[in-house]
Amino acid sequence: MTLNSKTRQIEIQNPDGSKFLIGAGDCTVIAGPCSVESKEIFLETAQTVKSSGASILRGGLHKLRTSPDAFQGLGRDAYRLAQEVKEELGLPFITEITDPRQVEELSDLADLFQVGSRNMYNYALLSELGKTSKPILLKRAFSATVDEWIGAARYIEKEGNSQIILCERGIRTFDRTLRNTLDLGAVAYLKAETDYPVFVDPSHACGRRDLVIPLAKAAQAVGADGIMIEAHPNPDEALSDGPQSLTLSQLKDLMQAILLS
Ligand code: PEP
Ligand code: MN
Repeated sequence: MTLNSKTRQIEIQNPDGSKFLIGAGDCTVIAGPCSVESKEIFLETAQTVKSSGASILRGGLHKLRTSPDAFQGLGRDAYRLAQEVKEELGLPFITEITDPRQVEELSDLADLFQVGSRNMYNYALLSELGKTSKPILLKRAFSATVDEWIGAARYIEKEGNSQIILCERGIRTFDRTLRNTLDLGAVAYLKAETDYPVFVDPSHACGRRDLVIPLAKAAQAVGADGIMIEAHPNPDEALSDGPQSLTLSQLKDLMQAILLS
């Protein structure tokens, strides 16, 4: 990948104190389950995340689901097990924050905060995150223009935190063939016109695990600074987003494809 010399670099700290940079030219991979479901499943997934060479572990604790009857995540009950897995594997951890009141309670556990698509317009949450010193991965709302997305980033920046990563995760268009439409044009545009590091989440974009690897390669080709991938030891049994979750063997294949190019 050609290094965009303008890209602002974001320092990520590993649990052992060592550091690496996002936006310095490598394609950083964030991987893990959509939701943390149990210690056993999370640990098994995290072991493959680590051994395959991905650098950041993901796992949803507070889930915002379209239906209030769907699994809402384990919430606070899983903070401790997530902490144990993160420390055992030595990987930095990212999780979605859904309420300003979680900033404090997640401060030890989360090394990066994820703002989900449904909260991109939650300006109270964005302003609160602007007062923290953690990197923020800001997902694009599924019907946001690029300008609205940049506006959301500026709410965070205005409070003093400029460690922002934009993450394209597919938008809602007239075409409902796939879960969403992956807007790689927006990624190329943001790389050309802004200094934000830009990630792509092909999992939520397409909703089908067989299409995740080709879209991840496309994201890398267009200059993404990283990708976010959902994976699960037994995706058909996953409590959320199973159809788009890679098996652990597919996660290894994806990492080979990304690391080799
Ligand atoms: C997720 O990453 O699990 C998620 C809910 O993503 P999004 O906010 O993009 O729908
Ligand atoms: Mn998900």
